[in-house]
Amino acid sequence: MNYDWIVVGAGFTGAAFAERLASIGKKVLLLDRRPHIGGNAFDEYNESGILVHRYGPHIFHTNSDVVWNYLSKFTDWRPYEHRVLGLIEGKLVPIPFNLDSLAALFPAPVAARIESVLAAEYGIGKKIPILKLQQSSNEEIRAFADYVYRNVFEGYTIKQWQLRPQELSPSVTARVPVSISRDDRYFQDTYQAIPLDGYTAMFRRMIGNPNLDLALGSDWKTPNGAPVLFTGAIDELLNYRFGPLPYRSLRFEEKTLNVRRHQPVGTVNYPNNHDYTRTTEQTIITGQQADVTTLITEYPQPHIPGETIAYYPIPRDDNQALYAKYAAAASTEFPNVVLAGRLADYQYYNMDQACARGLKLAAELGGASWPAL
Ligand SMILES: Cc1cc2nc3c(=O)[nH]c(=O)nc-3n(C[C@H](O)[C@H](O)[C@H](O)COP(=O)(O)OP(=O)(O)OC[C@H]3O[C@@H](n4cnc5c(N)ncnc54)[C@H](O)[C@@H]3O)c2cc1C
Repeated sequence: MNYDWIVVGAGFTGAAFAERLASIGKKVLLLDRRPHIGGNAFDEYNESGILVHRYGPHIFHTNSDVVWNYLSKFTDWRPYEHRVLGLIEGKLVPIPFNLDSLAALFPAPVAARIESVLAAEYGIGKKIPILKLQQSSNEEIRAFADYVYRNVFEGYTIKQWQLRPQELSPSVTARVPVSISRDDRYFQDTYQAIPLDGYTAMFRRMIGNPNLDLALGSDWKTPNGAPVLFTGAIDELLNYRFGPLPYRSLRFEEKTLNVRRHQPVGTVNYPNNHDYTRTTEQTIITGQQADVTTLITEYPQPHIPGETIAYYPIPRDDNQALYAKYAAAASTEFPNVVLAGRLADYQYYNMDQACARGLKLAAELGGASWPAL
């Protein structure tokens, strides 16, 4: 079979790209070395009948009408607003740290005073990255910021990245800013939901076009004619010639309990205790009603290429420079290969961003229309 496009990787980036091209009559081969579709968003039922996200809990959120409307062609949704509590000084308080976290941890008059200073300086409803808060010219704000930094960010960041917050791009701590509000939702996006019958079922519908052939368990190595969209790791593509790009990996521990509900909210973070970072209760996220529930606990690990799964690119300037060397080499040596996705772009993407990347490339390269919805 002669294909118009070969798409390597059946995650959000590859599946959206492949679906768009197949929809305008292009013949597409979508392959993945894993035995399943969905990439890291893959979910399946465990032996207790609970739907689990195999590569860590995935909560869909987006401000993009285009991405939301596009994916809604392949799934109905269960509205879900994620909430996270962190164990700080023996108390479970809202994360991102907000005015209720402040009230839970400080004596009432002190909390009221800090709240009024924060409101005057930044305004109610604002979100301020911790590193910015620490640079405030106001002494009281700096003292408060140092407390939050020590109790919420420092231990968690060291566990997660094996680096201190200052050793990472400021974008990392800015992902979870201090919130000068009482909104305890983890995300504030317009659309927040979980595919009603799971991510894998949604992907199955995305790739159902007869113009699209699927080959699972297929390890793609080198181009052989047809243009390729490659969503695998850019350093692997070039045989790690400049050294591996640094990633953090994770080990997931799954535990099923004979109770209907175990945690007060979807995720509990442990910034300062244990060698794991967080525990998520799958049934809270998916809304599945069952007599048992499954918890997934995340243990950050070093990444060893070929042995562990590369989960998080480590955002630092030196790593970005190494990525740029790979990107330059790839564009010279593989003119027929387009690189995109979290591993090929060496960039943390949320699912909506990965999907948008696939949609946009399909419009630019394949002539598939940007979904007009
Ligand atoms: C623990 C964790 C939790 C997350 N939670 C959320 C969340 O709550 N919300 C959110 O929006 N995002 C979340 N994300 C991000 C989300 O997983 C990514 O946005 C998404 O997976 C990116 O899709 P992708 O297609 O770019 O990559 P992937 O999903 O990684 O897909 C790439 C695919 O390519 C395949 N592949 C690679 N190389 C080859 C090869 N040579 N041959 C064949 N196949 C190959 C891989 O097997 C893989 O299936 C989370 C990420 C992690 C790590």
